[in-house]
Amino acid sequence: RTVYLNGEYMPEDEAKVSVFDRGFLMADGVYEVTSVLDGKLIDFDGHAVRLQRSLDELEMRHPSSKEDLLEVHRELVRLNEITDGMIYLQITRGNPGDRDFAYPPQDTAPTVVLFTQAKPGMADSPLTKTGMKVISIPDQRWGRRDIKTVQLLYPSMGKMMAKAAGADDAWMVEDDHITEGTSNNAYIVKGNTIVTRQLGHDILHGITRAAVLRFAREAQMSVEERPFTVAEAQAADEAFITSASMFVMPVVEMDGAAIGSGAPGPVAARLREIYLDESRKTAI
Ligand code: PLP
Repeated sequence: RTVYLNGEYMPEDEAKVSVFDRGFLMADGVYEVTSVLDGKLIDFDGHAVRLQRSLDELEMRHPSSKEDLLEVHRELVRLNEITDGMIYLQITRGNPGDRDFAYPPQDTAPTVVLFTQAKPGMADSPLTKTGMKVISIPDQRWGRRDIKTVQLLYPSMGKMMAKAAGADDAWMVEDDHITEGTSNNAYIVKGNTIVTRQLGHDILHGITRAAVLRFAREAQMSVEERPFTVAEAQAADEAFITSASMFVMPVVEMDGAAIGSGAPGPVAARLREIYLDESRKTAI
C-alpha cells in the first residue's frame, strides 16, 4: 500500500514518524475519515471544512490548501486502486524535538499522514439486514468532543465493552441522556419524528449527520434536535446511527431490549437509500 507522509508518497513500511511527535506523545492531533464509493470521494467538502475547524480550535496551522488535500486524496485512491473504502487523514502538531506540555512555536512543521483502507462492497453491509445491537455506557470522554482529535481511548474501551456484552457498539450517556455512539451519531424515531441530539461541545458534528438531516427535511420528515434518554430509545419505533463509513445503519436493540419490532425499520432504510443516492451524485 502506498501512503502519504509530509508531501511524499511512499510504501507504508517506509513511512516513519518521530518518537517525539506530539501525536504520539500527547494525542495532539486531529483526523478525518472520508468514504470512497466507486472510486469517488463522498462529501469531501464537508470533511475539509470540519478539518479546518478542528485545526482552528486547537490553534494548529493548516498545512495545505483544500485543493492540495483533495489532490492527495485522489492520488491515493488512484495509486491504491480503491473502488470502495476509506481515506484516513491525520494532522498532528509535529515534532518539537523534546517533550513539553506547552505548544511548540507556530513554525513547527505539522505531521501530515494519509492512507487508504479498502472495504469492497462497503455499501452493502449485512448489518443493514440484521441491524446493530447497542449497549449504554457512561460518557467519560473529555468536554470538547466537537473537535475531532485522535484521543480515542475511551471510544476504544466502549467498543470493547460492547463486544464483551455481545453487542455491536456502545451509546454513551451523560446526565441521563445519550450523547452519541463510540464512532457515530445516534438517532431514534418516534411516530413520524426523527430525534437526535443537538450540536454542541458534547458531540462530534457528524458530516453524515448534517447531510442526513438535510435530506430528511427535504423529504418533509420531521426532525427534532434534542437529547433523548435510554428509556426513550428502548420505547422508540426505530433507531439508527450515521457515520462516514457506516452511512445510515439501523439499531434494533438497546441494553437487551428490542427497539420497535426488533428488526430494521423503514425510516432508517429510506434515509440510507436517499443518503447513498444523493452522495453518489455529488461524489468527486
Ligand atoms: N461521533 C463520533 C464520536 C465519531 O467518531 C464519528 C465519526 O467517526 C461520528 C460521530 C460520525 O461523524 P461523520 O458522519 O462525520 O463520520
